Amino acid sequence: MKIAIGSDHCGVELKSLLVRELSDGFTVMDKGPADRASCDYCDYAVAVATDVASGAADFGVLICKTGIGMSMAANRFQNVRAALCSTTDAATLTRQHNGANVLCLSADAVSPQYALEIIRTFVATPVDMSERHARRRWKLERAQRLSDCSGLMRDDPEVFEAIAAQTRQEDAEINLIASENTSSRACREAAGSVLMNKYAEGYPGKRWYSGCLPVDAAEELARTRACKLFGAEHANVQPHCGSAANMAVYFATIKPGDTILSLSLDQGGHLSHGSPVNFSGKIYNIVPYTVDPKTEMLDYDAIERQALEVKPKILLTGASAYPRTIDFKRIREICDKAGCIMMVDMAHIAGLVAGGAHPSPVPYADFVTSTTHKTLGGPRGGLVLCKEKWAKALDSAVFPGMQGGPLENIIAAKAVVFREWMSDEKKGYAQQVVKNCAVMCKTVQDRGYRIVSGGTDNHLFLVDVKKSKGITGKDAAAALDAAGIIVNKNTIPFDTESPFKTSGIRVGTASATTRGMKEPEMIKIGTWIADVLDNIADTTVQERVKREAAALVANFPVP
Ligand SMILES: *Cc1c(COP(=O)(O)O)cnc(C)c1O
Repeated sequence: MKIAIGSDHCGVELKSLLVRELSDGFTVMDKGPADRASCDYCDYAVAVATDVASGAADFGVLICKTGIGMSMAANRFQNVRAALCSTTDAATLTRQHNGANVLCLSADAVSPQYALEIIRTFVATPVDMSERHARRRWKLERAQRLSDCSGLMRDDPEVFEAIAAQTRQEDAEINLIASENTSSRACREAAGSVLMNKYAEGYPGKRWYSGCLPVDAAEELARTRACKLFGAEHANVQPHCGSAANMAVYFATIKPGDTILSLSLDQGGHLSHGSPVNFSGKIYNIVPYTVDPKTEMLDYDAIERQALEVKPKILLTGASAYPRTIDFKRIREICDKAGCIMMVDMAHIAGLVAGGAHPSPVPYADFVTSTTHKTLGGPRGGLVLCKEKWAKALDSAVFPGMQGGPLENIIAAKAVVFREWMSDEKKGYAQQVVKNCAVMCKTVQDRGYRIVSGGTDNHLFLVDVKKSKGITGKDAAAALDAAGIIVNKNTIPFDTESPFKTSGIRVGTASATTRGMKEPEMIKIGTWIADVLDNIADTTVQERVKREAAALVANFPVP
C-alpha cells in the first residue's frame, strides 16, 4: 500500500513523525517540505493529489494548520476525494460513504498519536459499494457533468448555457442518431487541452515550427495506436473530418475528371462520395452504383459488371445508411479485376471494426477512411489508413495539399480513444451495439413496420415509414423528437419522396449502448417508436412516451 504525504511548514513536524511511524507497514512517499521554512500549502497538495489522481499512490495524507486549504487544493483534481477529519469516526464514514482517498489533518487539532490512529482507520476502512452510496459518489464525481466547464459560468455565461442545454438534452433524451455517440471524459479532457495552442504544420519529427516535441509525442501515439488497433501499415490522423479524409485520398491518387464508382447518397452513400453539391461531385466523374432493388443489399456481381464496364480509378465502398455487412474480400476481387484502387469509408462502422463486430476492410483495401466520432465514440475528426506504398502520397495530400496546421488537441483525443478500444470492455461494447440494434429492429418490425433490406447486421436500421404507415420520414422524426426519442429522417433506396421529406428514418444504437442499455431497454424503446408512429398525430402518446423515456434514461448515466 502506497501513501503519499505532504504538508506545509505548520504541519512539517507532525509529517516527519508520521512518515517514520507509517514506514513500518506502508510504502510512504514523502512529497515535502523538508524543513520548517515558510512555504505554500498548494504546492504540496498538488504533489500529493497528482500521485493519487494518477494512481501512483493508493492514498494521500495532507497536513496544514487547519487542514482546510489542503482539502480545497486537493479536491480540484479528478478522482481525488479529500476529506478533513479530526476523529476516527469521521475517517470511517468518509471512507465508506464518500470513498475518500486523501486524508487532510489539522496540525493544531490532533495529537500525533491520534493522527496516526485516524490514518490507520482511514486506510483500513473499505468503501461501501451499496447502490445508494455508489450513486452519490458518482454524482459527486460528475457534478451533473457541469463541473467540466464550470469556469464558463462566470467567464461566458451565454456559451455556458449552450453547453448546459446540450448536457441536459443528453441526460434526458434517447439519442438514436446512427452517426453519433457519446464521448468519454478522458477524450473530452484531451480535446479541450492546451495542445490546441500549438501550430504544428508537418508531421512528427518534421515540423515547420519549433517547440513541437509535446505535440509530436501526442500525434505519434495517435498514429501508432491507430495502426495497432486496425492492423494498418500507415495512418494519417490529421484530417479535420471524415469528408477531409476522403478528399485526402482522392488528392493522393487521382486527377480532376477521373472516375470514381461509389454508392450514391440517396442509396445510403455519403455527400463526399460524389454528390453533385459536394466538392467530390464537382471535381470528379462520379458513376453511382445502387443496391439491388429487391433485396436492398449490395449486389456484388452487378458492381463487378459495372466496374469492368466503366473502369473507375477508384471503387469506393462504405456508407452512411447501409444496415448490412459489407464483403470486403469480394470488393477486393472486383478491384483486382477492374484494376482500380480499393477505397473503403468505414466512418459509420469503425467502432464495430475496432471491436471485431464487423469484418475489417484494412487487410484488403488500399485506403480506409473514417471518422473518429461515430461508432468509434471519439472526438469529431477524420482518419486515413493505407498501405505503406501510399504513405508519402497520402501525407503530402493532407499537408501541404489541403490543410494547414493539424488540431493536435483533437489528435490527442483520437489517441485516447484508440487506446480505449484496445480494452476487452470495448470489444464487448461493439458486440452489444449490434445485439441491441437487432433487438430494437425486430421489435419495430414485429409491430408491422417494413425494415429496409429486411433487417440489420450492424449498428443501424432503416424503417420505411411511408410504405408501412403512409407517413414521411420528416413527420416521423418530428413526432419521435416530441416524445424524447431522437432519430433522423433518411432516404431509402429508390425513394419516391424528396430528400427533405424522405420515406424513411434511420435508427442507431451506438449512443444508447454507451450509456449501458441492453436488450430489455431496446425492446422498450422499439415499442415506444411503434407507439408514437402508430399514432403520429396523438400528442398524448408522445407525452406519455417522453415521460417514460425520461424515467428510463435516468438509470443510464451519460459518461
Ligand atoms: C459521416 C460520414 C463521413 C464524414 O463526415 P464528416 O461530417 O465530414 O466528419 C464520411 N463518410 C461517411 C460514410 C460518413 O457516414
